Amino acid sequence: MFIKTLTLTEPLYEYLIKVSLRESDVLRRLREETMLHPMARMQVAPEQGQFMALLVELLGARRVIEIGTYTGYSALCMAAALPAEGHLVACDINAEWTAIGQRYWREAGVTDKIQLRLAPAVETLAELLSLKEAGTFDFAFIDADKVNYNHYYEHCLKLLRPGGLIAIDNVLWSGRVIDPLDQDPDTLAIHALNTKLRDDERVSLSMLPISDGLTLARKR
Ligand code: SAM
Ligand code: CA
Repeated sequence: MFIKTLTLTEPLYEYLIKVSLRESDVLRRLREETMLHPMARMQVAPEQGQFMALLVELLGARRVIEIGTYTGYSALCMAAALPAEGHLVACDINAEWTAIGQRYWREAGVTDKIQLRLAPAVETLAELLSLKEAGTFDFAFIDADKVNYNHYYEHCLKLLRPGGLIAIDNVLWSGRVIDPLDQDPDTLAIHALNTKLRDDERVSLSMLPISDGLTLARKR
């Protein structure tokens, strides 16, 4: 029998972190400040941030869009992995939370690479498409309000070049996606997109059980 993904015990998780996490001093301090925040759960795990930075490198990405920035940890991971002329559009609606990130982006010297767009992401995405930016992005990270996930996916697919990658976060939603009694709109939206993606011939697909579940969809 093949080995299914291991249940990560706390000691095994600590081992994984000890032998593989490479977190810069600025990222560590941003994570520590975020962990004091009441919504700290929303930040990506550091090993996931490192994985997304690797994806940015593998793609040779120059143009990235993030939907859902919070205190800017995932944005900093990706921006630091971009080349000097790289560009990341960070979409959020919360000025207070993203201001925390902006302080650390400055410290890390990536401010010139990040354009923060404070508006509902559906509006920012529609604007980018109306500015004929379709087909110009290499990587999209979807991590904002779950009820709009399908909308974000469809718009990001248009914004990506062929061969570009969409990463969709929280696709396992703490396991709630398999609870038939869970009729919460967020749960239903995530489950609906998961099911749709399985048969979506426009992309190559892999759902990874990292952190809260991360789906990778590569535009064909
Ligand atoms: N990617 C971030 C990180 O790893 O630190 C976490 C993002 S957090 C899960 C979700 C973010 O989406 C919040 O900061 C919230 O303000 C933002 N958000 C919620 N609804 C939004 C909308 N309609 N448009 C844009 N951003 C939205
Ligand atoms: Ca998330």
